[in-house]
Amino acid sequence: MSVVIPVYNEAENVERLCARILPVLRGLGKSFELILVDDGSRDETLELLLDARSKNPEVVVRSFARNFGQHAAVTAGFAAARGEFVVTLDADLQNPPEEIPRLVAEYDRGHDLVGTIRTRRQDSWFRKRASKFVNRMTRRMSGIDLHDFGCMLRGYSREIAQSIAARREVRTFIPALGYLYAKNPVEIDVAHEARHEGKSKYSLLRLFRLHLDLMTGFSLAPLRLLFSVGSFVAAAGILFGVLLLVLRLVEGPEWAAFGVFTLFAVLFMFVGAQFIAFGLLGEYVGRIFQAVRERPAYVLRDLAEDDATRSSRSVTLTPTVRAPRAGATAVGTHEGRGP
Ligand code: UDP
Ligand code: MG
Repeated sequence: MSVVIPVYNEAENVERLCARILPVLRGLGKSFELILVDDGSRDETLELLLDARSKNPEVVVRSFARNFGQHAAVTAGFAAARGEFVVTLDADLQNPPEEIPRLVAEYDRGHDLVGTIRTRRQDSWFRKRASKFVNRMTRRMSGIDLHDFGCMLRGYSREIAQSIAARREVRTFIPALGYLYAKNPVEIDVAHEARHEGKSKYSLLRLFRLHLDLMTGFSLAPLRLLFSVGSFVAAAGILFGVLLLVLRLVEGPEWAAFGVFTLFAVLFMFVGAQFIAFGLLGEYVGRIFQAVRERPAYVLRDLAEDDATRSSRSVTLTPTVRAPRAGATAVGTHEGRGP
């Protein structure tokens, strides 16, 4: 199996993380690799990761040239992963590594996607409230039936992980993307701990942007809303305009303030027409948006030594990367559900 962990400015946590996770993985009695993806850290994280790699043959390190975000880092980890089952978790030990064997057990039972729900979540009151709201809204808008989109302790079959890696969307949300490919997903309750050291890497603004990725990436509902609200405003405007014109004809020019109301009537019709045009444009933009998601999600920094050993192995070990299974259709199906 492969374990993928995105790491960004987590110097205080790296050693503790390795010390806790490696015994758990060794205890499983399966061959494994621990892929640590440095997301352009500016502290000593990379040095510590390379140090861990020199001490443990199972550790693989990837490093981004700059900060590309947690989900890009996980995607890079998926691209490097060679395991049959790929587990992701956070580097700050909020996801206890001791839960990994339970995910493996679900995979062995035949589930190709093992999702998790954090019980007794150890985050701020605000984060918990916001998550609850976002989870409910995303579930309704995208039609994706997940209960905890934010928990990164998850397991994916190799097939799903590779499909995600092959898509290379610039801004995406891995747990939701994984669900689109899953044949037999399951969700289990897992424990959650407070961050071991340091502070959350998500400011309020970054959190908002991340949730915007989730919402816009998996649903066209906001655009569709523009179209329906626009049509309603247009219809109301045109009706009101017609009413003003009729009253002008019945009541005479004096009632209509000598042309002012007539002018308003014409204006309302035009505003209405513009709203319809916006809505239509929105539909087209939505379609273009769906079609252009195949851009590179990250740039890898060159780690000469590691690359040399891996490329010689990859001749036999790297499987063919499968094209995403009817990706567009799968996305379309979910997006079609709307609110
Ligand atoms: N992370 C990352 N890149 C980023 C932000 C975060 O790789 O730009 C990693 C971070 O090191 C951690 C995980 O993503 O392993 C979750 O981040 P964090 O704990 O700050 O998020 P929170 O738990 O507050 O949602
Ligand atoms: Mg955290």
